[in-house]
Amino acid sequence: MSAHRLAIAIIGTGFAGLAAAIELKKHGHDDIVLFERGSEVGGVWRENTYPGASCDVPSSLYSFSFEPNLNWLRRSSEQPEILAYLRRTAGKHDVLRHVRFDTEVISAEFDEVVNRWTIGTDAGDVVEVDVLVSAVGQLSRPALPDVEGRENFEHDAFHSAEWDHSIDLTGKRVAVIGTGASAIQFVPEIQPQVKQLILFQRTAPYLLPRFDTVFSDAHHALFQRLPIIQKAQRAVWWMAAETLSIAFLYSKPLSRVVTALSRWHMKRQLRGSELLAKVWPDYAVGCKRILFSDNYLPSLRQPNVAVESDRIEEITAAGVRTVDGVVHEVDVIIYATGFAASDFLAPMKILGQGRRDLRAQWSNGARAYLGVSIPHFPNLFLMYGPNTNLGSGSMVCMLESQAEYIRRAVAGLRGGDAVVVRADVENRYDVETQARLVDGVWSKCTSWYRAADGRVANNWPGTSSEYRRRTKEFDASEFVHLSKEKGIS
Ligand code: NAP
Repeated sequence: MSAHRLAIAIIGTGFAGLAAAIELKKHGHDDIVLFERGSEVGGVWRENTYPGASCDVPSSLYSFSFEPNLNWLRRSSEQPEILAYLRRTAGKHDVLRHVRFDTEVISAEFDEVVNRWTIGTDAGDVVEVDVLVSAVGQLSRPALPDVEGRENFEHDAFHSAEWDHSIDLTGKRVAVIGTGASAIQFVPEIQPQVKQLILFQRTAPYLLPRFDTVFSDAHHALFQRLPIIQKAQRAVWWMAAETLSIAFLYSKPLSRVVTALSRWHMKRQLRGSELLAKVWPDYAVGCKRILFSDNYLPSLRQPNVAVESDRIEEITAAGVRTVDGVVHEVDVIIYATGFAASDFLAPMKILGQGRRDLRAQWSNGARAYLGVSIPHFPNLFLMYGPNTNLGSGSMVCMLESQAEYIRRAVAGLRGGDAVVVRADVENRYDVETQARLVDGVWSKCTSWYRAADGRVANNWPGTSSEYRRRTKEFDASEFVHLSKEKGIS
């Protein structure tokens, strides 16, 4: 029998869900069920299979601290290897037997009489638990652009996160809409294959070198003999990422250095072409995610590629019409237009105390104490919740902090107990967070970090070390303790 009797449900089995499950299991919890809408674990690393899908954060840092992999094939791994890592990690830590695959959670309601959550799934299951952890991520729902006429296009079209591998792009005329982290990875991969590639760029990204390398047998032998080397690499990349965060958040001079580095890299890659003026960004560095690539700009120089920076006005039956009236006729449209990142926890219906609807409570923007706890929603904890995304660095570090915080939060609970963050504590926290963000770098342009009303709802306003420090302790005085027997205490 497990040391703890709490029944816990976790929604999602990406890095976040696995981090939470493993942390709770390590501390004696075993009555855990994970709901996964897909047929295997992996989250975004299962979903995003576009050509060239990979992680530009080096794997020594973009992996669990408790589960180093000395055998990464390269410094910055490709999607299949990351997915294999997640599968292996889930298996090794005995998570798989807890997972209900192909099951999507559609609702959760808190029952104030027994202090338990009742969860409803698309399979019609009803499951009662003491603790509910949402680990659905910020980038799990692809967003198509709000462009007129999308439904009129008469040929193939798909989103980068729902890559249609049945469509052979060989010899086709292809439109790619978007120039974010996804597009810059697959454009160089498909460019040699297609007849013509028209890249619709609304806003140009800053690019830095990728610093990638293939690890040889000699590297692997060295890592096996001296695992400390990989730990040291993790520390170095962590420091580099923290430095980038400091540049964007606090230091204009450091930001200027990053801008100069990007200019140097981009200019060098575009030497002798006219493209630089077109693809050089016109906003503060760091406002959108800075991208790491060595092959994106060289691919744009190829004769079968055109960068189109005129605004898209309409999708027609034959292609993409820009404001200048030109219809760019294509055979395939690939939407690399990102995700519905501000709609946290959508489309689930979550009802808390007094049947409060989370969506109504968040009508002015999603918010949560430390990104984890929401007033009026006892024993509901979020992984990768509002204001916990990083502008630079490894989300896996943030997720580990959150998993540990949640484990501490539930440590003292017995069945029938619940904790709910005090509204004044959460409010003070939100005021502080937004005050730090309102004039910050992410307020200076539009991006998925900001909701439609301009509120920066996704990003954490500090460094990952600050977040780690602030989540290190669970302060019970910031929460109201509910008990089935004793009422509120
Ligand atoms: P994204 O960064 O949100 O980029 C979407 C792109 O589509 C932007 O260039 C955007 O232009 C453009 N767009 C949207 N609507 C448009 C419209 N109506 N007309 C023209 N262009 C339009 O999405 P993403 O590239 O999928 O990346 C999302 C996030 O996933 C990244 O920021 C990152 O956190 C993560 N990711 C990470 C990696 C990695 O290597 N670690 C790789 C892929 C993705 P605007 O900029 O003008 O809005």
